[in-house]
Amino acid sequence: MGVIHRLSVGEIFQLNSGGARAIDEGVDIIQDLDGYFMDQALRQARKAFESEEVPVGAVIVHEGQIIGRAFNQVELLHDGTAHAEMIALTQAQEAMGDRRLNACTLYVTKEPCPMCAGALVLCRMGRVVYGVSDPKVGAAGGAMNLLQLEAWNHHCEISTGVRERESLELLQSFFQRQREKKRGGEGLQELP
Ligand SMILES: [Zn+2]
Repeated sequence: MGVIHRLSVGEIFQLNSGGARAIDEGVDIIQDLDGYFMDQALRQARKAFESEEVPVGAVIVHEGQIIGRAFNQVELLHDGTAHAEMIALTQAQEAMGDRRLNACTLYVTKEPCPMCAGALVLCRMGRVVYGVSDPKVGAAGGAMNLLQLEAWNHHCEISTGVRERESLELLQSFFQRQREKKRGGEGLQELP
């Protein structure tokens, strides 16, 4: 996992009362913070799982505070654009009273798709941290990298692999359950 440059010293202080010691141990603390906030994103992803949605969760953090949190809700809302990142972005911009989120970090359990990556750049997200990469359509380096396109005048910092195993296991168990359901359904149809 990459070292994070954007977290201010003030933020480190705010999140650890150890004072000067905290600066020395800044990298460890930041990595712990990434794990902590990704755990919050995973909690959202589990809500998606329970709602029979593809289990992806996201939180947006500003100065150590969560200002947006959401899970994938495309089925619930009958909206193919209702990805966790999109819903969390709307919440965060409302909380900030600003469409520019340069000072914010998005934590999402799965690598953003092209739609969400485009939205993240338009909203000037400062940093994007994701759990599991998506080599098929991931747009933060997995299949393409829309977060750091040279032609765009905003580039998001990217960190990967935070809580990767948990994020992947949740997706795998969801799709396994879907396959089992499908097989079960087919089996029933074969009955006289
Ligand atoms: Zn998306």
